[in-house]
Amino acid sequence: MADCIFCKIANGEIPSNKAYEDDKVLAFYDLDPQAPTHVLIIPKEHIASANDINEENASIVAHIFTVAAKIAKDLGIAEDGYRIVNNCGDNGGQTVKHLHFHLLGGRSMAWPPG
Ligand code: 5GP
Ligand code: ZN
Repeated sequence: MADCIFCKIANGEIPSNKAYEDDKVLAFYDLDPQAPTHVLIIPKEHIASANDINEENASIVAHIFTVAAKIAKDLGIAEDGYRIVNNCGDNGGQTVKHLHFHLLGGRSMAWPPG
């Protein structure tokens, strides 16, 4: 999608610090980390938000969680635990309208979220 910052990161137009990549997804370090480990995992295909997950594209979500587990192990946060977050829409706090999952670790997380 032309004006989407994460599409531009996915196709290399905007550089990112990559943590993982395959033909379907890209994981890269968040510009403004909220934890010692803060990686964003995105589908390369433009999906605007969790509202747009459907029977046709839902398999990417399973793949993203598989990739998250691998990254967590690779970065050494799997054993202590971590949080995977998806913000959806304005009330969810979504600022970039391209589906992404935050993988946060390296510290204890509070609950409930703010
Ligand atoms: P959201 O608030 O939509 O759930 O998360 C968007 C995230 O993208 C934020 O944590 C923000 O720091 C990150 N972000 C926004 N623009 C860029 C960018 O150009 N590069 C990187 N690496 N992260 C970005
Ligand atoms: Zn996009």
